Amino acid sequence: MSTGKQLTAGFRLQDTVEMPEFQATGTWWQHEATGCEVFHLHCDDPENMFAFGFPTVPADSTGVAHILEHTVLCGSRRYPLKDPFLRMLQSSVNTFLNAFTFPDKTVYPAASTVEKDLFNLMSVYGDAVFFPLLDPAMFRQEGHRLVYDLDGALGISGVVYNEMLGAFSSQESVEMRLCLNGLFPDTAYGHESGGDPDSIPHLNYQEFVEFHRTHYHPRNARVFLYGNIPAERYLEFLQEEFLQHFESGSAPNPIGSQPRWSEPRRIVQRVPGQGDPEATASVTLNWLLFPAVDAERVMAFEVLSEILLGTPGSPLQKRLLESGLGEDLSSPSGYESEIFETTFSVGLRGTSARRVEEIEAFVLHSIAEIIQQGFDPDLVEGTLRRFEFRTRELGSGGNVGLHLMRRAYQGWMHGATPWETLEFSRVFAALRQRIAQEPGYLGTLLQEYLLDNPHRLTVAVVPDPAREQEDADRRRQYLAELEAGHGPDDRERILREEEDLRRFQEQPDPPEAVAALPRLELDDVPREIRVIPQEVLQLRDGVSCCTTAIDSRGIVYLNIALEVGDLDGEAELLLPFLSATMTGLGVPGIPYDQMSHRIGLVFGGFRSDIEVTDHAETQQPHAILWLRTKFLAQYADEALDLIDQVLCRADFSDTARLREMLVEQRNDYRSSIIHNGSGFAGLRADAGLSQIELKEERLKGITQYLYLDALLQQPIEAVRAGLERLHDTVVRRCRTELQLTCDPGLVGDLTSRIPRQLGGLWAREYSTLPDIVLARDFREPALPAVGRPEALVTSTTVNFIAMALPGSLVFQPEFAAQTLISHLLSTSYLWERCRMQGGAYGASASLNGLSGIFRFVTYRDPQTTASLQAFLEAFSGLETDGLDPELIETAVIALVGKELRPLSPGAQGLIAYRRRKFGITDELRQENRDRLLGLTPGQVTEQLQSLGEALQQAVVSMVSSQDALQQLPADTQDPAAQLLRLAAENQIRIISG
Ligand SMILES: [Zn+2]
Repeated sequence: MSTGKQLTAGFRLQDTVEMPEFQATGTWWQHEATGCEVFHLHCDDPENMFAFGFPTVPADSTGVAHILEHTVLCGSRRYPLKDPFLRMLQSSVNTFLNAFTFPDKTVYPAASTVEKDLFNLMSVYGDAVFFPLLDPAMFRQEGHRLVYDLDGALGISGVVYNEMLGAFSSQESVEMRLCLNGLFPDTAYGHESGGDPDSIPHLNYQEFVEFHRTHYHPRNARVFLYGNIPAERYLEFLQEEFLQHFESGSAPNPIGSQPRWSEPRRIVQRVPGQGDPEATASVTLNWLLFPAVDAERVMAFEVLSEILLGTPGSPLQKRLLESGLGEDLSSPSGYESEIFETTFSVGLRGTSARRVEEIEAFVLHSIAEIIQQGFDPDLVEGTLRRFEFRTRELGSGGNVGLHLMRRAYQGWMHGATPWETLEFSRVFAALRQRIAQEPGYLGTLLQEYLLDNPHRLTVAVVPDPAREQEDADRRRQYLAELEAGHGPDDRERILREEEDLRRFQEQPDPPEAVAALPRLELDDVPREIRVIPQEVLQLRDGVSCCTTAIDSRGIVYLNIALEVGDLDGEAELLLPFLSATMTGLGVPGIPYDQMSHRIGLVFGGFRSDIEVTDHAETQQPHAILWLRTKFLAQYADEALDLIDQVLCRADFSDTARLREMLVEQRNDYRSSIIHNGSGFAGLRADAGLSQIELKEERLKGITQYLYLDALLQQPIEAVRAGLERLHDTVVRRCRTELQLTCDPGLVGDLTSRIPRQLGGLWAREYSTLPDIVLARDFREPALPAVGRPEALVTSTTVNFIAMALPGSLVFQPEFAAQTLISHLLSTSYLWERCRMQGGAYGASASLNGLSGIFRFVTYRDPQTTASLQAFLEAFSGLETDGLDPELIETAVIALVGKELRPLSPGAQGLIAYRRRKFGITDELRQENRDRLLGLTPGQVTEQLQSLGEALQQAVVSMVSSQDALQQLPADTQDPAAQLLRLAAENQIRIISG
């Protein structure tokens, strides 16, 4: 190929670049007639991906780019369906399919290992972005519209509107937004790109359409392509399907640079929240640094940020945690490089806004001290090694293209070449060399960009219970004024539009439009299951080691599983905290920060967690405390030695550190309740039906959060004693199993070394169960049960609703049909009822074949009874909608496709281990695959009816606002309302702050 001369499908080749680190060749093309840019990374990876990306710089906070992202996926010229995206989710075997709005760009990526599938997806996505219908009704559905509620009161609804209400009711996300918006007051980053609920209603339809016309023209498009399909095939496709219909256009203005300040600034803002304002505020310092296209400095700051904050022993994190000025690091803390000019943030949560000045002074003083003292060489070296490790691992898992796309867009969206920010190895080597030659280099960066930089903003957010009410009052006031200006025509128009929308939503897609959608056939997907190799080796003294020997690029994945399913009472409740301490403490003679530096030098990953499940057939419960590690084979000696020390010599005597970790753990739970309300409510509902899910709820749910809170009231010395006893019980050879994944050539050597080098663990034999009583007054909340739903009331403006009922177990013949039903509900019925009609951000159904529980959930849901009603009607509704063989076939293809996702070697090894441990044999899996492939409408209908009968035993739990409970209708006969009325009267538990 010669640059710039010949045209390929109307594209001129701009440049070619070899990228040996990805074993890829990059070609950069521009479409001559329209200006559309394409970058293609050609390599061996069969997981191909494409992304349509557009710089979408907002001019206000109406969320226009975000609403557009939702709405282009609601029907296009060739695919005039209500929701082609959903149809593709139903039937494609994609390994990735989503859309994202960033503060300055919108991206539509998809990936698949099946070429035909990838081009199907590209046809649908390309048509969506270039030729969307942008129906006014869809703008109202996804954006905003006026509605009357049952009592006749005027309100606002819309998917994005509700999504952003949810985002604005979380202290963390408000804080993140303020930090970004506040640092760039004179550029587009000063606006809320997702949409501020107070601004969204001001967006009108004409402006919305205009934004699409100017921002989604091919002139403004950057198409990223990755994988083993040659570029020419894509270029011809793009030309034929889309670009030949366009003429040249002009690109909108790029985002500008933020004028620098001469003085630091400060913002103090009250946000909705239940916590004590003197103890749960958050204070963060933010700096504006340099442009993101400056790849070398960006990488230097990525490394610096990791050194300062990345591990428990990091100098800035350690100083802040020990300062007593707050509880732990604030959420925005870290380095942000996915915007035009990069930023660095650091601060504390669990503090008081009165301490703003103190915290500022402390942070600045700490940075000065760190510069003066210089960095621990082990810490720097460990951090650099972790960066190298991540790059080596990158090529081995799935979604490589997606990761590279994000890196490429960092610069490409802002005028750089696509590879300027994509390259890693060369830039990293230069940085490594520089650090070696100029020992003060990192310190100089800190001095210049943090200490001497006046463009600094301190953001303090203070929770205030009154704020939620004020927000609600202000919105009511706005609606009241709006209504006062309305004539009778307006009311009629609103009702009519709502009726039109409802009719539109309920009307089925025209069959010819559905038939026009490209799709796979059953023959395009494999009938055989994918088998992961695994061998169980018996090491000395009967410890088994489940080994998956596959090419893993010299990386060793070694996981230590400690069986803890037999523990109960407080011993069980204390396990998650024990797990957290395992990777955060020192050993005698080595304090935790030094230990953390050592771990950093050797491991690419080192973490612990707890997994709960049961055996498919015996139903015997398992709880596993995992220590999961990965390291390069050349460091095996040091790695095994450190693992043994961490396991056997953990030093619990640093009680100040223990307390820090306990507070952090509790705070992480607290902030995750609003983000993951569906998960917490789901666990509660499941626990009402199953002993094993009860275990999981105690270890990972609301009960665990409450327990951590109770533990914090206890003397830390007592907690320490409890942990020591528990640790002594749990870390025992007889409880141990190993899971090892590595290159085949390494297995023999490693398995012979392990018993010797983990000598401490091997020497620890049986011990009796401990009797631990720490939080004597702690009362576990009673579980929801059949006919006794519960509501967990917290500070949120949207709800998370979960309903669990008995379903099939994985070894039962019904499993295939019920799995299919959960997929159909998630991608059709619930989507339509709860998302399109109800305005919830998400809704889904799932079947857990190990505990035999079928679960419904909604996510960021403005409704309560309407969603429960949808759950209760889902099975019969699906039956009424009709189950034609084609619908079943597309769902079967999508379900089989889930197994086509590439997995990293580490993930493969763990999955193989779990399958063996939990009794899921390959024979059983193939049997279920065969059943799935052979499903008939009759079998599915039978299971719909059987699940319908199981609704009698449904258990309901929800995370919701107080408001949602008060607004429940009092005098209706429908069962959902009755369930909830019970909740409102008897079962409310208030989770404060
Ligand atoms: Zn959204």
